[in-house]
Amino acid sequence: MKITTIALAGNPNSGKTTAFNALTGARQHVGNYPGITVDKKEGRVRLDGREVHIIDLPGTYSLTAYTQEELVARSYVVDERPDVVVDVLNSAALERNLYLAVQFLEMGVPVALGLNMMDEARKQGIEIDVARLSRTLGVPVRETVARSGEGVKELLQDAVEFGDSRSKQPWTPLEISYGADIDPVLRAMTARIESEKFLDKYPARWVAIKYIEGDEEMMRLGRDAGPLALELEAQVKEVADHLQSTLNTYPEAVIADYRYGFIASVLRDGVVKRRDEMTDRI
Ligand code: GDP
Ligand code: MG
Repeated sequence: MKITTIALAGNPNSGKTTAFNALTGARQHVGNYPGITVDKKEGRVRLDGREVHIIDLPGTYSLTAYTQEELVARSYVVDERPDVVVDVLNSAALERNLYLAVQFLEMGVPVALGLNMMDEARKQGIEIDVARLSRTLGVPVRETVARSGEGVKELLQDAVEFGDSRSKQPWTPLEISYGADIDPVLRAMTARIESEKFLDKYPARWVAIKYIEGDEEMMRLGRDAGPLALELEAQVKEVADHLQSTLNTYPEAVIADYRYGFIASVLRDGVVKRRDEMTDRI
């Protein structure tokens, strides 16, 4: 029987564990990731005659390497290559929650979005154009209320189907523009990383972005991987010095700004409506 593996990701308190429990019921197992204290929860569910394994990843706001949780989440996705990542978002704080989703999209792993806490969002007058959001990002999007189970099974079905349709394709990373100071360096670094097959279990552009973000774990892995590491570090230093002297800022901040800019552009054009705004207009 074909087994589909799904990693549940999302910001802390977005409702991952609630969704996980709704899906797996008693069929779950709690263990540990080797060497650290972060819980590893796994569950199984039967769906339309197939077996789906679900891993409840620790909650994270980002995929940098600042916390054990972030490292666990990204290592799991890169090393274990789940068929799909289901990102559970708090719909009442969609913009902030999409920051993590965008990073999974940049990694290229197939992602399905669960817009959770829709009961709360509705109470606040928030309406989301799910079809438009799905079209813009190119991934399945489903509204859910994990606490009551609304939409959770449908989210799982969407995710499994999406995983199937993407299973024979290589990961296709989303490419965001990071502006005139960073894009050329990013392109050059990506080309070098690709041609050297450097850290090639990660997508090349993603490695380059992590370097520019000053990701210490990536740089540590890079130094073990070969001499290209020093060249990349030098390129990053050059762009960092330039940003410091011209804009008094640093690469990581620019990357975050452009990511939020990308999210804002996605949410513009009617993806999110506030009912009070709508009635104001009438
Ligand atoms: P996690 O940190 O992502 O695993 O989040 P939890 O599953 O632990 O949920 C955090 C809190 O949000 C709990 O109190 C849940 O009962 C609540 N919660 C989860 N899903 C929903 C939802 O769809 N609507 C509402 N109103 N609360 C929810
Ligand atoms: Mg949890």
